[in-house]
Amino acid sequence: MSDFKTEWEQNVQIPDLLLSLGVDLESEALEETPRRVGGAWEELLQGYTLDANDILAATFESEGHGPVICRNIEFSSICEHHMIPFFGVCHIAYIPSEKVVGLSKLARLVDCFAQRLQIQERLTKQICDALVGELEEYTHDLAPNGVLVITSARHLCCLGRGVRRTKMDFICVSQSGAIYPQLYNILMGGV
Ligand SMILES: [Zn+2]
Repeated sequence: MSDFKTEWEQNVQIPDLLLSLGVDLESEALEETPRRVGGAWEELLQGYTLDANDILAATFESEGHGPVICRNIEFSSICEHHMIPFFGVCHIAYIPSEKVVGLSKLARLVDCFAQRLQIQERLTKQICDALVGELEEYTHDLAPNGVLVITSARHLCCLGRGVRRTKMDFICVSQSGAIYPQLYNILMGGV
């Protein structure tokens, strides 16, 4: 991470970009802007330094087998096509087999994938895949019987430019395993 920061601090491309857009970097108010931009991007993309396995490593014995539901997990991500934010909420439901994971871990899991250059479809699927844990790269023992993830977001690249729609929500769904239809209603009720 520190190497990344140093790279940003030494990077001349941010001033170049601003200058090419006609920004006066001689202005006192803007002289620190390239450095601030570097710091902001470091924070916005810190998901690359996080590992979903670490986040899901601490699990607890499940007391039951009913669905575990967490709605309205706010997130902010960056559209990989325009490098402009999209933001919204993520709703997660999973059906435990033997183990459950702490609620705060679900929010951290969302951040782990949201704080990267993303498309919302992939973000939704990555959160689902990480919880399912069946892919080779996941080593946690949560092993849920089913997972449902729904994200709802607004994309600034469609609000302030391009098609310029201010009320357009974009909803993506990813599911795996045994999911009852009622879970869709419960999660979508919060969308
Ligand atoms: Zn975009």
